[in-house]
Amino acid sequence: MPSTVPVAAGRPRSPSRRRVLGTAAKLVSGLAAGGATACAGRPPPAARTAPDPLPRPAFRLPAVNVSRDRIIRTVVGLRPFRPSGFRVESVDLGGGRILVHNYGHGGAGVTLSWGSAWLAVEELIGDAPPPARAAVIGCGAVGLATARLLQRRGVEVTIYTKDLPPDTTSNVACAQWSPYSVSDPRVHTSAFEDRFERAARISHRIFQELVGVRYGVHWLPNYPLSDAPFGGPGQPGRLADLFPGTRDLEPGTHPFPVRHAREYTTMMIEPPVYLGAVIEDFQLAGGRIRIRDFGSLDEVAGLAERRVVNCTGIGARDLVGDEELVPLKGQLTVLLPQPEIRYIALYQGLYMMPRADGILLGGTRERGEWSLEPNREAEERIVAGHADFFGRMAKGAEL
Ligand SMILES: Cc1cc2nc3c(=O)[nH]c(=O)nc-3n(C[C@H](O)[C@H](O)[C@H](O)COP(=O)(O)OP(=O)(O)OC[C@H]3O[C@@H](n4cnc5c(N)ncnc54)[C@H](O)[C@@H]3O)c2cc1C
Repeated sequence: MPSTVPVAAGRPRSPSRRRVLGTAAKLVSGLAAGGATACAGRPPPAARTAPDPLPRPAFRLPAVNVSRDRIIRTVVGLRPFRPSGFRVESVDLGGGRILVHNYGHGGAGVTLSWGSAWLAVEELIGDAPPPARAAVIGCGAVGLATARLLQRRGVEVTIYTKDLPPDTTSNVACAQWSPYSVSDPRVHTSAFEDRFERAARISHRIFQELVGVRYGVHWLPNYPLSDAPFGGPGQPGRLADLFPGTRDLEPGTHPFPVRHAREYTTMMIEPPVYLGAVIEDFQLAGGRIRIRDFGSLDEVAGLAERRVVNCTGIGARDLVGDEELVPLKGQLTVLLPQPEIRYIALYQGLYMMPRADGILLGGTRERGEWSLEPNREAEERIVAGHADFFGRMAKGAEL
């Protein structure tokens, strides 16, 4: 559903703006009443020194109601981060068996799932006739997209997985369509950049076909916010065109209690709805799901299927022995839903994303941390930071 930003004819002036204007008015009237002796014939000093009033905000947005008694849960997930980037690569297991790896998408596994799956299916099948059967290991966003693309090529697919949604990292994701936190630019190669761009573009295109209530995918305006001016126009890099409607908003023309706001539109993919719908598609197309925890690649090589795609996310570290793969622990504190909140706000490393099942507050990434226990200190910081920000926004605080 294309999002619209509610446009108001104007908004009541904020207390601080009222204060500024009220003080200036008092100063002018005081000078007019008694100042004839002081500076007759000169313009009142206040008129020269008062700051130019900011333009009025061109639109209004409701503020999130942040308080500890509105928290409904805090969830934790381990982003599967590989500094050199996600791995899509085939390995010959011998005896005519091919394994294609498809894991390590960091903070963008949902975002990149369809594009990365596309690359994996190319790797598995290429120009050859598709195999009659294939297996996918893993039932997160990446495994499901891979399984569906194989089915679209006419392949009979079985998913083998240790856990099903809702017990996957993909269920913890927000999930904003945002191809970031995927790799380390100091480490990844230009060849990876090309693959990454291709995956992002394919994924962006396929997710557009899933917009609607059935898949829980919709367009939302995003507002990165900053006290300092943004560096350059638009989203950085080669993917700028995937962030339609990018524009910088002048101080005072937006409803946020900071000077600088940028606006662009992305898709929001609600994992509880999305993953369930894709599993349903998979099963309707004849796909089967088997619960199985693989302890080694030897076990994988023992499967009846001779074509296998490994989509085990952070689980690949143990399964494959890939020590480059590290967890980037993230957590989200979820508040009671507020259906009127239809925008994403990102400020000082914190972010707020609205979903049907709650308002997500996040902003953590703990590298190398394996614990699935919530970090209470981080939770406190995130809730307090958002309470302060949205409290100021609700009061119409000025800069
Ligand atoms: C707080 C937070 C916010 C995030 N926000 C976003 C976001 O806004 N946008 C975005 O795109 N991404 C986001 N992410 C990242 C995203 O969650 C991951 O990149 C993504 O879930 C990875 O998907 P996956 O399918 O590879 O892994 P998973 O979802 O972890 O799925 C892996 C599957 O493999 C199975 N498995 C693992 N090991 C084995 C084994 N040995 N044998 C059998 N099965 C196995 C698991 O049971 C599971 O089914 C976020 C992550 C976190 C933690």
